[in-house]
Amino acid sequence: MPAKKLSLQELANSSATQTTDCPYTNSLSIRPEHLQSSNVNKRKQNNNEFDENESAQFFYDAEHIKKMNEINERAMNEKKRKIEAAKQKELEPCWFCLGGSKVERHYIVSVGDKAYLAYAKGAINRDHLLIIPIDHVQSTIHADEKLMEDIQKYKKALAKYYKSRNKCVLFYERNFKTKHMQIQVLALPIDKSYLLKDSFLSIAKEQDVYLNEIPQFTNLKQVLNQNQPFYLLELPAEDNDNNNDDGDHVFDKYLCEIRHNFPINFGRYVFLEIIIYVPLIFLTDVKILFIENMKIFQRFFKPQVIS
Ligand SMILES: [Zn+2]
Repeated sequence: MPAKKLSLQELANSSATQTTDCPYTNSLSIRPEHLQSSNVNKRKQNNNEFDENESAQFFYDAEHIKKMNEINERAMNEKKRKIEAAKQKELEPCWFCLGGSKVERHYIVSVGDKAYLAYAKGAINRDHLLIIPIDHVQSTIHADEKLMEDIQKYKKALAKYYKSRNKCVLFYERNFKTKHMQIQVLALPIDKSYLLKDSFLSIAKEQDVYLNEIPQFTNLKQVLNQNQPFYLLELPAEDNDNNNDDGDHVFDKYLCEIRHNFPINFGRYVFLEIIIYVPLIFLTDVKILFIENMKIFQRFFKPQVIS
């Protein structure tokens, strides 16, 4: 008769050979005789082992829970600490707001209506400058028209200035992990400008930076939303004399919409790769640059005097 048709009693008293003990005897009210008598000691021993294992399991679980609680608590505390630090940072005065207490005035080259020009702290070379909004503005997509006009004037003047010194200029802006907009200005000898596009594009590919060429007059506000981190690169146009009909310099624009992460020193890294082939003097002290170049820059940009 198939076992499934046997009653519990018949199953318990079954004399079938080559069978294993029922694993559910603890939950059966009727236990087979051979389990109750000859295997009592063995079962006792097994039960003891089971009890020990059970208590060990319980002990392990309690430890595990304690450990998990500690880990969770540490994670919560770390999260709280980070939120507090971020709040504190928000309250700190900004390094770039011109009216702020932290701005380092000896870096300033020129002050316009809405933007100013300053040497880069930790400059790559003597031509490394920054165009910065006077007021606290996060990026190009947060800037108003007046500010953009002022920035455009600086870009034009810088292109003209560097051309007069037989150099070409490039600009880039990273709206990622920055609070105050900064447009980096870098220049190199004009006969090396052919290195720029290839170097930027090939290193971008290596570093998973998706740089897409965009039309020259693209309004970033129309293609990006205000919370979109981005990297905008402007390289001197390769064609002709880099000038348009008005005699202004033309730039090829490349945009990367930052999705997850971005190599923060991307522009710096590419430029350093390029200038390996270009003998330029590296700066160890920005004050040397300040003394050497300030008068030249000031003559060129006719800055307002800052007290
Ligand atoms: Zn600021």
